[in-house]
Amino acid sequence: MTRKINIALAGNPNSGKSTLFNQLTGLHQKISNYPGTTVDVHTGVRTWKEQYEMHITDLPGFYSLYPKSEDERVAVHEMMNNAFERKFDVIIYVADASNLRRSLMLFSQIVDLKEPVILALNMTDLAANLGIQVDTRKLEEVLGVPVVEIVARKGKGIDALLDKIVQQPREPSFTFHPSSFYQNSVALKIGEISGVKKVYTNILMAHNAAFFPTFNEGILQIIQEEQVDLIALQSNDSLHRFKVIDELLAFCVKRTTKEANADFSNKLDKLLTHRVWGYLIFLIVFFLIFQAIFSIAAYPMDWVEGAFNKLIALLENALPDNLAASFLLDGLLPGIQGVVVFVPQIAILFGLLTILEDSGYMARVSFIMDKLLRKFGLNGKSVVPLIGGMACAVGSIMAARTIENRKERLLTILVTPLMSCSARLPVYILLIGMIAEPKRILGIFNIQGLMLFGMYLLGVFSSLLVAFIASYFVKSDKKNYFIMEMPVYRSIVWKNVLSNMWNKSKVFVLSAGKIIVIVSVILWMMGSFAPGNAFSTIEARYEHTDMTSDEKVSAIASEKLEASYLGILGKSIEPVIRPLGYDWKIGIGLISSLAAREVFVGTMNTIYSISDDDNTIGLREKMQKDIHPITGKPIYSPLVALSLLLFYAFALQCVSTIAIVKKETGGWTWPVIQLVLLTGLAYFSSLVVYQVFK
Ligand code: GDP
Repeated sequence: MTRKINIALAGNPNSGKSTLFNQLTGLHQKISNYPGTTVDVHTGVRTWKEQYEMHITDLPGFYSLYPKSEDERVAVHEMMNNAFERKFDVIIYVADASNLRRSLMLFSQIVDLKEPVILALNMTDLAANLGIQVDTRKLEEVLGVPVVEIVARKGKGIDALLDKIVQQPREPSFTFHPSSFYQNSVALKIGEISGVKKVYTNILMAHNAAFFPTFNEGILQIIQEEQVDLIALQSNDSLHRFKVIDELLAFCVKRTTKEANADFSNKLDKLLTHRVWGYLIFLIVFFLIFQAIFSIAAYPMDWVEGAFNKLIALLENALPDNLAASFLLDGLLPGIQGVVVFVPQIAILFGLLTILEDSGYMARVSFIMDKLLRKFGLNGKSVVPLIGGMACAVGSIMAARTIENRKERLLTILVTPLMSCSARLPVYILLIGMIAEPKRILGIFNIQGLMLFGMYLLGVFSSLLVAFIASYFVKSDKKNYFIMEMPVYRSIVWKNVLSNMWNKSKVFVLSAGKIIVIVSVILWMMGSFAPGNAFSTIEARYEHTDMTSDEKVSAIASEKLEASYLGILGKSIEPVIRPLGYDWKIGIGLISSLAAREVFVGTMNTIYSISDDDNTIGLREKMQKDIHPITGKPIYSPLVALSLLLFYAFALQCVSTIAIVKKETGGWTWPVIQLVLLTGLAYFSSLVVYQVFK
């Protein structure tokens, strides 16, 4: 017979909880939304010695039982609920042994909840490197709690942990706070209405009354009657806890401190967060990252492009000239190519971001940027979503979850899509190619490269400006101060970097990529069919002209496109976009890139490969060759390209982003505000530029 054991993993963010969870459950895991929230909760199953079936829940990381963010609230809610209804038989508390003082804070609170808990001392490899020796026997004795040393990343100590779990730990004997501290009438009164005997649980209920609706009223009333100063209570509580923890550490932890190590880390901190050097290093690091992305990614992108062109040319010769072949060659394959060509960039950017994050540098960046970003209504932690926004807004908006303050989080989500994501890159490259020659100035700076850099700066400045203005309109709940512990510097785990590169690329291909391919196919269909017998009329008209056959084919193709459903749609929006300098073909591009920005290039590809069978010249030349039938001037003048460039810099043309914002903000209000605001900004700035310089 198997025995079922319910287990919760609790601990601070970055304590290695997910790593342990993966070690324990392998592939047997599930992600679901915590009811009524947007918080992900991971659950999984592990069988042990064929007798035990362990159901493991990986709670979101949290710092204390006085929660600040939604993630933390979920974890605290789960922990406290356990006082009423034993859902978890065992709680595994994952502590970072290299940073024990901080880790034990939350642990002490959980111990005082009197939940059966096991202390898993993680990162003991790192602690050993830092010269920290924990006497686990002593710790176990004092606390009356099983203590297991593990190295989650290497799977060390997992079996010992599993053995401790099946031994069913009892409630801890140690108390960090003498209950006399809480033996006040508040705890007693709350105990009466909650029916919970544990004093600390009752005190916490006073703090978290809002999350326990069933008792809410009674508790809030008691707090009022007794005039409890909750903030004072909490800070006294924390002070006392740290005192006990320090005594405990003095007793159980030996430091053969490799002073040099700690010294180095401190010195590095000073440098990286320096008022001048800190910012300079930040700029250099990110400048190098973008250089790396563009120069390294260019190679695989060229390979992909070359391979697809070869494949298409090969199939063109092999396949008969019919509708199915046209679907494959003009619809599906170019669509897939448009997706695959992005993967190198996304992979490289996320690889580099993972390195910055894991090494501990990103936390220092957040720290130095906090003061600056605060001026714009944002927060030091907004740096990660904003910089991530240069790869893809979708993942970055999810990364904004770590921002505790609601207002700062909403503002970050609002402006992240203004950062130049990589989906804009092909559009920018195409358009910049129409504005400037690939010349160098001063022998080193490539003009096109500088313009591209300018577009990134535009993204940064516009997002700060919009955040600044919007901060006057978004309600704030309370002032928030930057409290972020500096994580220790760590060496990079390449497996981690690679898996992140792989996962992010996969998400991109599966989410955005699907939309891009679908849109490409729909576009091909709309471009290949027309209402009534419009196509045959065109063909008939050309039957008796004395044009060369090449001229004829090209002229027919272009007239057909204009008559197709695609042409009809593009023309119908022409009046709206003419003031910006755009024609109906650009109109089609704008419509189709509502699905995702990069579809613009794909669409132009589709339009021009339908209308022009000459596949040997690039899209840019084809577009530049395009002459307006009435004015006889090029349609894509540098000014039009500039106007389009601005439109793409600001407009929210990405359904994936809209969907994720709805999910993260829990409703349609924010995505709609964002869509209207950013599209309005795009239209207005393109209009001004085109009309002024016309
Ligand atoms: P979580 O936020 O608590 O889920 O933390 P993660 O599981 O994401 O781990 C944070 C970082 O610590 C990752 O880079 C892990 O690879 C690393 N890590 C996890 N366990 C260990 C360990 O035992 N030793 C070392 N040196 N690193 C670890």
